[in-house]
Amino acid sequence: MSRQPATFRLGELAIEGCSRAGEETWFRVSPPGLAFDVGRGPLTLAGVRDLFVTHGHLDHVLGLPYLLSRRALDHPWGRRVFCPAEIADDLAALVKVAERLERTQYPFTLCPLAPGDRVEVGRDLQVEAFATDHVVPSLGYHLLRHRYRLREELRELAPEEVVARKRAGEAVEERSEERWLTFCGDTGPSIFTREPALFASRVLMLECTFLDPSHRERAGRFGHLHLADLAAVEERFENEAVILYHLSRRHRPADLRRQVDALLPRLAPRVHVLLEG
Ligand SMILES: [Zn+2]
Repeated sequence: MSRQPATFRLGELAIEGCSRAGEETWFRVSPPGLAFDVGRGPLTLAGVRDLFVTHGHLDHVLGLPYLLSRRALDHPWGRRVFCPAEIADDLAALVKVAERLERTQYPFTLCPLAPGDRVEVGRDLQVEAFATDHVVPSLGYHLLRHRYRLREELRELAPEEVVARKRAGEAVEERSEERWLTFCGDTGPSIFTREPALFASRVLMLECTFLDPSHRERAGRFGHLHLADLAAVEERFENEAVILYHLSRRHRPADLRRQVDALLPRLAPRVHVLLEG
């Protein structure tokens, strides 16, 4: 039985998805309309062109062959699947078996990525891969937005003057880059030292699998985050919103919310829990 997705909006950014540890994790992000992980293949991802896989655990990637199969029926043009370079051969083999079963070929391109690699995903939008801290090869992804604004020294000028300079061929705009969204996939706490840029992302999606004090050691062993790991770095989150997902099925969403309020009082007003609808 599939769960109802949860949704989140901040300005133009819209996120929809489901995430429970060991069950399924997938998120659709618009713009540009890409997916971070594909869970067990929800139909809502069937029309998505770019699929970014964080790692090979099946609750994040099992649905890939099914989604490629659906897409082949509905839209015969190719789509792109991005993944950690270390798992590209195995993902290709997984899809190949499905193609053989269906006596067909899915139109798609598999694109292995390493930390630091960037991909154009839309007008003025890029995704950048970064290393995370899990028990299998894994990547997280930043969604970067390029914005254009008038160069500072021109801002005092009359609009006609700026237009005249632009017509004369002068570059009147400067480009800035915003880390709009960061999706960390599954990760243990060393992510905070490996990728400190995540603290400055406008929206941060961070897994939070464990809550009980007795599960702290377990979280580290399985490459997951415990709420206490977040509490330890609470002062560093500059994000406008922090979205928590991937909660263990032992806990209810209300347990997570209550403990966030208790243990991270300063961050709590910016925390959103995105597990299911
Ligand atoms: Zn995992």
